Amino acid sequence: MTAMGGTDMGGYTGRLLRVDLGTREVVAEDCRLSCSREYLGGFGSNNRLCMELCRPGTDPLSPENPVVLGAGPLVGTAVPGASRVMANARLPLTGAVASASGSMALGANLKWAGWDHLVIKGSSPWPVVLVVEDEKVEFAPASALWGKGVLETTRLLWEGYPGFSVLAIGPAGENRVHSSLAMIDACSTLGRGGLGAVLGAKNLKAVLVRGSGGVKVADPRKLRKLLADLYQRLEKYDLREAAAALGMIGAWPLYAAQLLPHGSSQRDLEDLIERFGPQAYLRLKKRRVSCPSCFLSDKDELLLPSSGKTVFSTSFLNAAIVGSALGMEDAEEAASTLAFLDDLGLDFMTLGWQAAYLLELREHGVLRGGEAEGVPLARGGRMLRELAVCVTERRGDMGEALAEGWKGALAFFGEDTRRFTMLVRGQDCLYDPRVSGLGTMEFEQVVSPRGPTSASAGSATYLPGLPEERLRRLTERMGVGGEAMERVFSPPWGMNVGRLTRYSEDWFSLFSSLGICNRYQINRFYHAGLVRDILAAVTGVELAVEEMMGKAAAAWGLYRELNAREGLGPEEDRPPEAWFSEEPLWGRGGRLHDYFGRPLSRDDLQSLLSDYRDERGR
Ligand code: SF4
Repeated sequence: MTAMGGTDMGGYTGRLLRVDLGTREVVAEDCRLSCSREYLGGFGSNNRLCMELCRPGTDPLSPENPVVLGAGPLVGTAVPGASRVMANARLPLTGAVASASGSMALGANLKWAGWDHLVIKGSSPWPVVLVVEDEKVEFAPASALWGKGVLETTRLLWEGYPGFSVLAIGPAGENRVHSSLAMIDACSTLGRGGLGAVLGAKNLKAVLVRGSGGVKVADPRKLRKLLADLYQRLEKYDLREAAAALGMIGAWPLYAAQLLPHGSSQRDLEDLIERFGPQAYLRLKKRRVSCPSCFLSDKDELLLPSSGKTVFSTSFLNAAIVGSALGMEDAEEAASTLAFLDDLGLDFMTLGWQAAYLLELREHGVLRGGEAEGVPLARGGRMLRELAVCVTERRGDMGEALAEGWKGALAFFGEDTRRFTMLVRGQDCLYDPRVSGLGTMEFEQVVSPRGPTSASAGSATYLPGLPEERLRRLTERMGVGGEAMERVFSPPWGMNVGRLTRYSEDWFSLFSSLGICNRYQINRFYHAGLVRDILAAVTGVELAVEEMMGKAAAAWGLYRELNAREGLGPEEDRPPEAWFSEEPLWGRGGRLHDYFGRPLSRDDLQSLLSDYRDERGR
């Protein structure tokens, strides 16, 4: 390994590790702190590195496609929820150079090992595990792990490498399935859209990282004081006990109605809450699993009573969503099905949409009979499991087509079947604004450079039904002020979702660059002034709030630029046709409407898109 520099500055290690899996070359470099200062770190610096390292048009599954991991300056400190690790790579589902976010202990270990970034290039001639322990880098043979699920792989690696954080892929990634992802410590997903396939194409079964150092903090006393205040606010939080006991499923009653098919009754809603709601969760909960420094964790180890098995859960809310959307029997079936998909290393969202698409094809006579390629065409856990196996194994023509993502599906079943799904940039939507209303998360699906994801643009509209006044207060919290506030909250919309989305993206960009978890139960305790103070205490760099938010905006701008180079610029910001039809999809539908429930036309949406571009400055 070559010599390296580093820094005396707090938060950043100032060091980057480059590994080539083909040549086995390992290089440690200075990170160029000017870049971290300009783009804050994590998400921002990853994008900057990709501008240099990713040649436009590179095949996502080729050795030349780099995977860039990065953890921002707060990761590895005691700052609550500072657990984020960001991964950039060109992904096969959409062709975007996506920035994905994950959690658990990977980011912290990277920092404790002395690295702000890890860049992986090349392709190993045989299956390999990359092991990084402080300065030491090792390539361990992984043929015995190839073909194993994520959970078994992770457990076996923990036995051999105690104390390491494990980023692993399952058989779906090995088989280069476009809806594959990677899992961190068996509990956090990373990289919907095919990061698993990118790692699989490199013959990289897992990355293990352990660090024995710490993260230097510029002003520990100031940080202790800020964190004590933050914990005091947590103590006063009226829903603290409920959130600590239930995690994200505590919010389930707010969203459950959105998952019911059109025309469902109050009794149906009660039944759904009983089957997948908080009480059902408590019957399975074994213990809560947490990222380092999280004060309101939402991951679990669950005990499945009928098999006596334990499974990890990224969040029980995901199980409840997929279970209710696909009409599963109960919470146990939903949790075990989701764990099955996680173990294969598949994204449950894309696979769930593919299941819904097949059901639509059957209903409209494109598919006939009770099954296709061994996949039962009837709602339930069995359908999703069989589909997962079919896609992972690329079984038959249908499995082969679906494994190539939506491009493959539409080529196989016909372009006119696009109306049976909801796609932006070749990736399936997660939120249907005909059901939930057009908040920033719904709108962001259209303008995000990588297509729809669950992570970005979580503004106040995450909570349904807030009055404008409350929306204003929560928007100010994100560092928006002055004229920008007047533009966001202006006639004729009251709240202009196009303009607000720009600031939600910047808020996400800030959190992901510094390394704070963007989930609502964490992000609700922060405001821009507090983040600025924490950043100053950790790094020693004093910024005005406007300056800090300007850097977060620049990081997002770079992300858009990076993808415009791939031909995925603003011209791809096209809402799916299904949004303008009232036909139900996946049993749900209705008229496109805004956050406050007012109907929206195609022209309205175009006008909001142009407001978004105006607010972004282009
Ligand atoms: S809320 Fe969940 S993902 Fe976020 S830091 Fe806590 S445990 Fe990790």
